[in-house]
Amino acid sequence: MPTLRLSLPLSAPRTSLLHSSRRFFSAGFSRLFPSCYPREKLQRDCRRVQLFLKMEVLLRSLSPRLRLFSRFYTRMDKNKAMVEYLQRYGVLRSDRVAEVMEMIDRALFVPKENPPYLDSPMPIGYNATISAPHMHALCLELLKDHLQPGMRALDVGSGSGYLTACFAMMVGPEGQAVGIEHIPELVAASIENVKRSAATPLLEKGSLSLHVADGRYGWPEAAPYDTIHVGAAAPEIPKALLDQLKPGGRMVIPVGDLFQDLQVVDKKLDGSIISRNETGVRYVPLTSRSAQLQNY
Ligand code: SAH
Repeated sequence: MPTLRLSLPLSAPRTSLLHSSRRFFSAGFSRLFPSCYPREKLQRDCRRVQLFLKMEVLLRSLSPRLRLFSRFYTRMDKNKAMVEYLQRYGVLRSDRVAEVMEMIDRALFVPKENPPYLDSPMPIGYNATISAPHMHALCLELLKDHLQPGMRALDVGSGSGYLTACFAMMVGPEGQAVGIEHIPELVAASIENVKRSAATPLLEKGSLSLHVADGRYGWPEAAPYDTIHVGAAAPEIPKALLDQLKPGGRMVIPVGDLFQDLQVVDKKLDGSIISRNETGVRYVPLTSRSAQLQNY
């Protein structure tokens, strides 16, 4: 499979987001999934999606009343439309992941000034971003067999809390989903986000928890994990995370500096490790809090 490298700046202004995503939709996806969608239909649908997104940006720039109306009348519909869009392009393949992404409304995790359903990363403050919907979908698809009810999941660099909430919904009340984030303000905000979402009963029960910590050391308290997801790029796979992965478990982690690969790391039952590169990606670095706050 050819690799896809996102050319998007991490906190691009809105107009260039539209521009970049148009390029991305029409070039990237058709290259990535050439056989699953006729090219003309793909291009026609791209134009429709872009028109829809432009209309949303326009509505948002109008009076506050219209803005409220635009937000109210279609919020869940738009989340569903985003899910259907990801399905149509082939990145979202299973019903189980689609159901979870429908249940967890992305708009609750994206700061209000940004269009939440655009397939692009969005700034969440503190030099961090919430990953693009297609990256969330891809990671959930890669990890879904290790997110069965009752399993344990660790989300390192949990940021907005979106993926931790999805993990919690998948592993259910008998499982454990732990989010680790090193910026206390982001952890506080992510807890508020989750409280407004469908995952709130799991937060109340304690099967979903979000903690302030340096994710490079994992979270030994709830180890070993069936799933470890890392939402920031590490120069190399941290040993603590490998140690906390259960035999039979899977880790998805972006590795690299300027050029990064999304690695899928499987720990076999005998404890040996096999890994492969899924695709080229661009994430913020897994680093120290001070380096991040000084803009790396
Ligand atoms: N999956 C998250 C991604 C957030 S961006 C989402 O979609 O919302 C990556 C996050 O990793 C940032 O919030 C950043 O603050 C955090 N991060 C970076 N280095 C870290 C570290 N050493 N420990 C914990 N979190 C870290």
